[in-house]
Parts: sequence; C-alpha cells; structure tokens
Amino acid sequence: MTPAELIRPDIQALSAYHVPDARGLIKLDAMENPYAWPEDLRDNWLAALRDMELNRYPDPHGHRLQERLREAMGIPADMALLLGNGSDELILMLALAVAEPGRKMLSLDPGFVMYRMIALFAGLDYVGVPLKHDDFTLDLDATLAAIERTQPALTFIAYPNNPTGNLFDAAAIEQVIAASRGLVIVDEAYAPFTDHSFLPRLGDWPNLMVLRTVSKMGLAGLRLGYLVGAPAWIGEIDKVRLPYNINVLTQASTDFALRHRTVLDEQTAAIRAERTRLFVTLAGLDGLRPYPSDANFILVRTRPGRAEDIFQGLLDHGVLIKKLDGTHPLLTDCLRMTVGTPAENTALLEALQTVLKATR
Ligand code: PMP
Repeated sequence: MTPAELIRPDIQALSAYHVPDARGLIKLDAMENPYAWPEDLRDNWLAALRDMELNRYPDPHGHRLQERLREAMGIPADMALLLGNGSDELILMLALAVAEPGRKMLSLDPGFVMYRMIALFAGLDYVGVPLKHDDFTLDLDATLAAIERTQPALTFIAYPNNPTGNLFDAAAIEQVIAASRGLVIVDEAYAPFTDHSFLPRLGDWPNLMVLRTVSKMGLAGLRLGYLVGAPAWIGEIDKVRLPYNINVLTQASTDFALRHRTVLDEQTAAIRAERTRLFVTLAGLDGLRPYPSDANFILVRTRPGRAEDIFQGLLDHGVLIKKLDGTHPLLTDCLRMTVGTPAENTALLEALQTVLKATR
C-alpha cells in the first residue's frame, strides 16, 4: 500500500509540528529560559554525570527524582506523581488511558495546540470552547454549557494560558471542576512566572490533576514533565507509560538542577522583571497592544494586517518571534514574544521600533 492508502486520513490532513530554524537568530519564539548556567555549576554538573551507567536502563519510575521534585515543588504528601518525557507525553498518556469511540477532550481556544493534536492522535473528539474575544478570559457560561452537552472525559485548562499569557479566574475554574464528571487537568507549565497554583487545592476535588514541567524554568532540553494527582488516578495512567520513558541523563541532570534551584529561581526572577519592562515599553509603542501576562511571554496585537510584515521585519533584524495571526480567529493580527535576556529584549524593542516605522 502507499502512504495515501495506509495512513489514517486525519493524520494525512495534518501538517507536522513545525519548528523554525533559529540558527544565528535571537530566539524569542518558544518560551525558553534564555540564561546559561554559571561555569562552576556546569563543571559540577558534568562531574555528577561522570559515573552514570549508560549501559543500564534508567530507574523506571525515577524514584529519586520524584523525591527531589516533591521537596522542591511542594507536592502534597498524599498525592502521587507520574513523570513524562516533557508534559506533552503526559497529555498523550492521559488521552490514551481514557480514549474510547465518541469520548471527548475539552479545552479553551486559543490554547496550547498539542491538546487538539493529541486528542486526534488518540482518537478523542476535541471540543474547543472559545475564550472571550476582547480579553481572552474564560467564558464560564459557554464552558459550562459545553461540559453539560459533551460530558468530556478530559478537560485541559492551561493556567496561565498559552498563547494568551493570562490566568483565568480561579473561581471560574473551580466551577468547571465541580461541573465535570471527567478529569480536569490544570496545566501549570508557566508556574515559575506566577504566584497562583492549584497544586495546594488538589485534595479539594476528586477529579482534579495538576500538570507541570521543568521546561520553562530553564530545563527545556531535558524533557521532563510531571503529573500530580490522587494515587488511584496516577496508578491507572501509569499503565500506558512506555517503559523507561525518562532517560538516565534527564533523571540525573534534573536532580542536580533542583539541588541548585536558587540559580534557576534567580533566572526566573530576572525574566519576571524583564517581562514588566517589555510590557511597559511595548504598550508605549504606537500600533501595538500587548496583553497582560503571567507567563514568560507576551501576546501582542498589531494594527490590522500588519502582523506578517512585522514578523518578517524582525526576522530581517535577526529576531525570531512567533506569528499567531492566521492560527485562530481570535488571534488575527497577533504575535507572541518570549521574554529574553535584557540585551535580547532591548534588541527586540529596537528592531520593533525600526520595523514599525518602516511598515506604517
Ligand atoms: N503545556 C503548555 C501550556 C505549554 O505551553 C507547553 C509548551 N509550550 C507544554 C505544556 C509542553 O511542555 P513540555 O512538553 O516542554 O513539558
């Protein structure tokens, strides 16, 4: 058979997740922490890796790393943990564990694109409830109506949301959890950049889980996410995990990094401070409207029809951001900029000023 005959039509219709080539560019497209580690920390890390046994399979459950995460992240003692190769893999495991014909995954749109993709991979029907169009807040009436109508097996709420950067109203999320018979997963990928979390609330509802990642705090290259929830849920979802999904280098390196957490926390604090500077400066630029953010990126709306020019103009100045215009009706004329180092943000702002003048 040919690929056209054999591959599922819904997969053929997809375009693969596109990662642009960022070589030589200031990379502000993917919500990475822009800071490297100090030299002495790198040396200690390499020394810690020296005696790793690469000929052996990793600890299948990453017990030591789980203990480190519990301590570093304040995981409630009565909750269980499941580790994933990035939080992406945990979204996939959740979907695989519940997928049956006709079952639904619900989320809020525009949101993290992998929810929709993974629903499709696993054979769940995706239900996207639009956010309010003026400020990207959660439309509680529409969301509750969709839950009532579709009875989703899984509901994902990114808190803060990507790509809009805002935190939804906590009381509205509580109502969504209470109204759902299926699992509600509060995805806190951007937890390092906000003081709000549902982690301490985990015991309040039997159907709430919290999803986290170490990617945004500065360890995106290691690919480690963790799902926190009641042991009865975690025990079932663990059954669809591929054996040894977290490799030895990731287990050891994350453990090491969390023992030196203050370095990462200082970097996160610097990103938060730069977020404020970037927002204030963007708000002062003629022709741009930045949206308030609790994450490490800022969503910006340009004048009608200008997003592509500005995106390309920034590329010509060596700055790569994310163009969201065209990806969802609510994101028309929108761009997303990750908060970089002070020097990177200054370069972005200077390039923006030039480009805005030229494209006026
Ligand atoms: N959730 C949200 C809301 C995200 O924005 C992202 C990454 N962009 C992820 C999960 C996945 O993160 P990772 O797989 O790196 O843990």
